[in-house]
Amino acid sequence: MKKLNRREIKKLKEDLSYKPVLIWDKLSAAQEREVEREAKEYKVFLDYCLTERRTVDWLAREAGRAGFEEPCPGRACLVVLYRHKCGALAWLGRRPLSEGLRIVGSHIDCPRLDLKTRPLYEEAEMAFFKTQYYGGIKKYQWLARPLALIGVAVKPDGRTVEIEVGLKPDDPVFTVADLLPHLARKAQYEKKLSEAFEGEKLNVIIGSRPLGDGEVKDRFKLSLLSLLKERFDLSEADLVSAELEVVPAQRARDVGLDRALIGAYGHDDRVSVYTSFQAALEAVRVEGGPARPGICLFVDKEETGSDGSTGAQSRLLEQVTAQLFIAAGLQPSSWAIEEALFNSRALSADVSAAFDPDYPEVHEKRNAAFLGYGPCLVKYTGSGGKYSTNDANAEYLGWLRGVLDRARVIWQAGGLGKVDEGGGGTIAKYLARYGLEVVDFGVPVLGMHSPFELISKADLLMTRRAMAAFFKAE
Ligand code: MN
Ligand code: MN
Repeated sequence: MKKLNRREIKKLKEDLSYKPVLIWDKLSAAQEREVEREAKEYKVFLDYCLTERRTVDWLAREAGRAGFEEPCPGRACLVVLYRHKCGALAWLGRRPLSEGLRIVGSHIDCPRLDLKTRPLYEEAEMAFFKTQYYGGIKKYQWLARPLALIGVAVKPDGRTVEIEVGLKPDDPVFTVADLLPHLARKAQYEKKLSEAFEGEKLNVIIGSRPLGDGEVKDRFKLSLLSLLKERFDLSEADLVSAELEVVPAQRARDVGLDRALIGAYGHDDRVSVYTSFQAALEAVRVEGGPARPGICLFVDKEETGSDGSTGAQSRLLEQVTAQLFIAAGLQPSSWAIEEALFNSRALSADVSAAFDPDYPEVHEKRNAAFLGYGPCLVKYTGSGGKYSTNDANAEYLGWLRGVLDRARVIWQAGGLGKVDEGGGGTIAKYLARYGLEVVDFGVPVLGMHSPFELISKADLLMTRRAMAAFFKAE
C-alpha cells in the first residue's frame, strides 16, 4: 500500500467515511428563521389536531384554503377523505399513472385513552368514565395530569354531536388520580412495573357534585347525565354510538432555553402528516406539474395494528388510486390499479426512536437516530430476526439517496434499537403488499408514545424538504 501523508489521510477519511451531519451546523441565519416559522405553524397544527377526526377536519380545511384543487391546470388534484378518520391528497403528474406514483403514507392516530362503550358510573360519591387505552402506552404516564375529552356522539336520527372539553383556558379538565406514595407500597412499589398499573384503574374523574338529596340513588351519576343532556343533548344511551377520546390537555411548547425542541402530544405520527401535507402542496405547484402522479396518504389505526376500515390494511390506497384514474378519464380496472401501484415508490412516513442518553443500553449507538440529524431512513423495522417487516430493496435505497442528496436534504440512517430489546412496526409492510417499493422514513422522537414527546425543530424542516423532493422526483 502507498504511504500517505497526513493531508491525504484526512481527505481519504472525508471521502470514504459516512458521518451524519448535525443540521444546526449547516443552517444560515435565514434558514434558522425558516426553522422557527415552520415550528410555529406546526405547533398550531398540533394544538388543533388532537384526534384523527380533528386532523381530517384540518386537512380538508387547509387543503381548501391552500386552493389545493385549483393550482393544477390540466391535471386533477383531489382531496379524498373517508369516514372522518382517514384519506389522502392525490394528483396527476406529467407521466401516466401506469408508470407508477410517488406515495407518502403516514398515520393520524395516536396513543390515548378511549371511553368504553358504556363508560359512565358512580363510585364513592364521584362520577367516572371508564376507559380503554388505545395503542402502546405506559399507563402511569396518564395519571395525575390534566386531560381533555374530545369526540363525537351520533344520535339514532343521524345527528352528530361534537364534544370538546378541556382545551380552552377556562374549560374544566379531567384526570385519573394516582395513589398517594404513603399507601403505595404493596399496591404499586412492590409490583413489577408492568403489573403495578392496571388498565381497569384508568378511570377518569368527571364529577363529584350531586343532584337532589341523599334519597336519590346514583345521584352523582345522575348529576352528570343531567349536565350531558343540558350541554350536549346527550343521554346515556347516546354514549354507545360515540367516539370519545381522552387526550392530554396541554399545548405544544418549545423545550429548552434555546427553544431547539418541540414538546407535544402526538408527534407520532402527526409530524409526518404535517410535513407530507406541506410537501404535497409544494409538489403540485411545480411549473408544469410534478413528473409523477402522487398520493399523500393519511391512515388511522396504525397504533393498534392497522386493522379496521380506516387502517392501512383496508383498501384505501386502491380507492384513492381508482379516483385518480377516473380523474384522468381512464377506466379504473383492477388490473390498471394494480399495475400503477406495483410500479410506485413510497415512503412509510413514521417517526423513529431518537437516542435517549438516559437509556443508552437499549440503543445500538452505531445504528441509532439522533435528534437534529434529519429524518431517519429505516431500512427495516420489525423485531428479532427481521420478523414482521418490509425490508427495503437496495436498488430503491440507492435511488432514494440520490433524490435526497440532489435536493441537499440532511438525513440519517438507522434502526429502532438493540436487536433483542423489543421492536415495532409501521404501515410499510401493508403498503408493500402491492409490490411497490417502500421504506420507512421519519423524524426522530424522544419519549415516543408519551403524552409529551420531543422532536427537534431542525428535523421538522428537513423532513418537509425531504418529502417535497420525493414527491417531485422523476
Ligand atoms: Mn408511528
Ligand atoms: Mn407509534
